[in-house]
Amino acid sequence: MIHYSKFKESSIQGRYINMDSIQKCFSKLSEPLIEIGKSVNQVQIHAFQLGNGPIKVLLWSQMHGNESTTTKALWDLVNFLRSNDPLAYTILKECSLMVVPMLNPDGANVYTRENCNGVDLNRDAKMQSQPESVALRRLFNSFQPDFCFNLHDQRTLFSAGNTNKPATVSFLSPASNKEREITPTRETAMKLIAGMNVMLQKHIPGQVGRYDDGFNDNCVGDTFQMLGVPTVLFESGHYPGDYDREITRKYIFLSLLEAFKIIAEHQVDEFSVGDYFSIPGNHKLFFDIIIENAGIVNPRISNTHKVGVRYKEVLVDGTVVFEPQITEVGTLNGFYGHRTIECVDTKGFGFTYADTPLLDLLKNTKE
Ligand SMILES: [Zn+2]
Repeated sequence: MIHYSKFKESSIQGRYINMDSIQKCFSKLSEPLIEIGKSVNQVQIHAFQLGNGPIKVLLWSQMHGNESTTTKALWDLVNFLRSNDPLAYTILKECSLMVVPMLNPDGANVYTRENCNGVDLNRDAKMQSQPESVALRRLFNSFQPDFCFNLHDQRTLFSAGNTNKPATVSFLSPASNKEREITPTRETAMKLIAGMNVMLQKHIPGQVGRYDDGFNDNCVGDTFQMLGVPTVLFESGHYPGDYDREITRKYIFLSLLEAFKIIAEHQVDEFSVGDYFSIPGNHKLFFDIIIENAGIVNPRISNTHKVGVRYKEVLVDGTVVFEPQITEVGTLNGFYGHRTIECVDTKGFGFTYADTPLLDLLKNTKE
C-alpha cells in the first residue's frame, strides 16, 4: 500500500507549471543536472539520472507546454524514489531513469502546446527543426534507453470507450509502421500498459482509455518505437470536478510507479497483448457542461436541443482560467456533460453566480 500523500510534492500544484515553479524541486536533488540543450528562448533544458541499474528508461514531460500533470507526478515519483521504501530501492537497483521534467520551457511559460516558434514538438520528429527536438533526440541517442515514457495531458472531452466515464488516464503503444503491425517492441509496451491498467482498474474502474494508433512518423513516440525502443504514451485526463488535475496526478504517479515495479521485477511478460486491446478506445463524448432547456433563457434555441459547452484554458496573471465557449447546439444524443445545468426560468435560475459569463453567452447565442 502506497501512501501517496507522503510523497506528493507540495511546492507545485494546479495547471500552470513553468520552469520557475520547479526550481525548488531541482534544488532538492542530490544528482547532478545534465544540460541537454537550450530552448528557442535560451532556457536551459535539464535532465537528471536516478538509479544505476541495467534497465534504462528515458522519460520526458511537458513536451507540450500546457500539459503539466505528468510533470507534477514525476516530482512525486522522485520523492518516492528518494524515500526508504523497499520498492524504491529495488527500482533504483534495477533501473536507470533519465528524467526530463520539462522539454518545452518556453511553451510552459506562456501555457501553449507549441514551443515559442509555434511548432508542435510532437510533430517534429522527422524534421527536428527545433532545438528542443534536437535535445531530446541527442539524449535518446546517447542514453540508449530500453524503454521510453512520453508524458502528456489530454483534453476533458475524452470518454473511456462509448460510456459516460471520462478517460482519466489513457495510454498508447504507438504504431511503428503504417500497417500498425504488432512488432516485438510494440508488444512489450502493450504488455506494460496492460499491467498498469490492472492496477488502475482497482482505483478508477472504467476510467482508463486507449489512444488511436494511426501511424505518424513525425510523432516522437512512433519514431522511438520504430527505432526499436518500447515506448509508452501516458495521457493525463479528466477526473470529475478535478480541473486542477490534482487527483489525476495521483493516478499518473501510481501508473509510473507500477510501470517501474513491473520493469524492475521483470514481470512484463506476465501481461498480454489481448489485455491491452481490451482497454476501451478513447471516444470524444464529453462536454464540460451540457445546458438543458436552454430555450427558456434564449427563445432562439429549440427546446428539444441541448447546448454543449467546452472550456478554453487561458493564462491570466499566472493562473489558468477556464473560459466557457458554446461549441455545439443540437440534440447531443449520446454525449455527456461533466456537469449539467438545467435552465429553470428566464432569469437563469439553475446557474450559479460564477456562471454569469456563461449565462450571458447563452442569451446571445443562436442555433
Ligand atoms: Zn501532448
